[in-house]
Amino acid sequence: MGSVGESKPHAVLLPYPAQGHIIPMTKLAKFLHFKGFHITFVNSEFNHKRFLKSKGPNTLDGLPDFCYETIPDGLPPSDADATQDIPSLCDSTSKTCLGPFLDLLAKLKDSASKGLVPPVTCIITDGVMTFSVKAAEIVGLPSVIFWTASACGFVGYSQYQNLVNKGLIPLKDESYLTNGYLDTVLDGIPGMKDIRLRDIPSFIRTTDPNDIMVNFFLRGMEEAHKASIIVINTFEEFERDALEALSRMFPPLYSIGPLHVLVNQIPESKLASIGSNLWKEDSFFLQWLDSREPKSVFYVNYGSITTMSAEQLVEFSWGLANTKKPFLWVLRPDLIKGVSVTLSPEFANETKDRGLIVSWCSQEQVLNHPAIGGFLTHCGWNSTIESVCAGVPMVCWPFFAEQQTNCRYACTEWGIGMEVDPIVKREEVEKLVNELMEGEKGKKKKQKAMEWKKKAEEAISTSGSSYKNLDTLINEVLLKWK
Ligand code: UDP
Repeated sequence: MGSVGESKPHAVLLPYPAQGHIIPMTKLAKFLHFKGFHITFVNSEFNHKRFLKSKGPNTLDGLPDFCYETIPDGLPPSDADATQDIPSLCDSTSKTCLGPFLDLLAKLKDSASKGLVPPVTCIITDGVMTFSVKAAEIVGLPSVIFWTASACGFVGYSQYQNLVNKGLIPLKDESYLTNGYLDTVLDGIPGMKDIRLRDIPSFIRTTDPNDIMVNFFLRGMEEAHKASIIVINTFEEFERDALEALSRMFPPLYSIGPLHVLVNQIPESKLASIGSNLWKEDSFFLQWLDSREPKSVFYVNYGSITTMSAEQLVEFSWGLANTKKPFLWVLRPDLIKGVSVTLSPEFANETKDRGLIVSWCSQEQVLNHPAIGGFLTHCGWNSTIESVCAGVPMVCWPFFAEQQTNCRYACTEWGIGMEVDPIVKREEVEKLVNELMEGEKGKKKKQKAMEWKKKAEEAISTSGSSYKNLDTLINEVLLKWK
């Protein structure tokens, strides 16, 4: 690598090593690069291998000021092309990554002393890489935490300690999962109203007082209190109450989203070729969508982590088939744990003229295609905000984590979603898809989604709240340490 201009600020960005975190962190990296930063993007060794394998067009060559580095994630090496077990990954990153990350920072310092890269001026780490605040403290830089999920989800996690203190969690026994206990309405949660225990991020649904995920988030929230600043991929108009509540509880907090819309506006550059997919994208879907009528296609995608049983898949498949509507369905090869995903010949025969099944797509492109009329989603934050920004209403089937909170907000606060019962039944899928695509309720949800889309675009326009916050973040925080 040749010598680079000394004046460039240098940001090191460390996402949590899962797809839904790498994508928004890459967007932030691209924006900072556009604003003149030298970027070091840190992947886990496991994900970087997958990233290189999946790439195809995502070429990294010829970008000396957007560099990748890797650190181990602490799990045993594996060549699997699938999402890692999340509790194991949370446990291992929190216990093992501090050392390798500090080694990497030392290596970058050495490179800087030789004039190979500019000195590191800021570290931006994922809100769930809980060791990173300590790393920043050790190297004497401010800790900028990027919370890649929703503000309402963040408020939910911030309540874990209170729920433990009040004896509401862990659950007394397994029967509490089904005996109506989860419908308990929680009063006095800052920034939230009409929230039930079942809407709080789902890791609380445990009887184990030493549950890995509950403890992980209890620690995570403690660390967040020590951060210099927190940035979050949402916008003020969308999550005002939750953001206000968080800003009373935590260090200075800036909403800077939706980042994907902002980054899409960056003038065409070499950076456009930098992707963040861990799966190889299918290519035919756009051509297929082009051949469909406006708003006629129902889109189904459960994100990168959700798994389900073979029985649930069968219910979804017949629910979709029975709507008689065209659909684009993304079925990841690892969607059913340990079993390959197969659908019956009867289903294939019934839907062959109107259904397209792929294993991974460019979701942003799909959601923004005029043929799309609705989206069945697991309510991951990226999927939710991508749907909002495309003005597409949603059928919600949350899987885990803060997806339950996002679902609650989508169906009540934001008015853009309809929830499918967790015990999925084909009749309900059919009914909700039909209602969303052509019913009166569906029309209202669509209208609401279009209103939010407009507000999201305003937020990232140069006079909008998120753009101003990014400006403050860059000029009054990140460049201050240069
Ligand atoms: N995604 C995609 N193509 C797919 C499936 C997912 O591009 O076929 C992207 C999607 O656009 C989103 C991310 O993967 O940006 C998934 O993140 P999300 O927070 O929605 O869910 P998670 O995968 O973390 O559960």
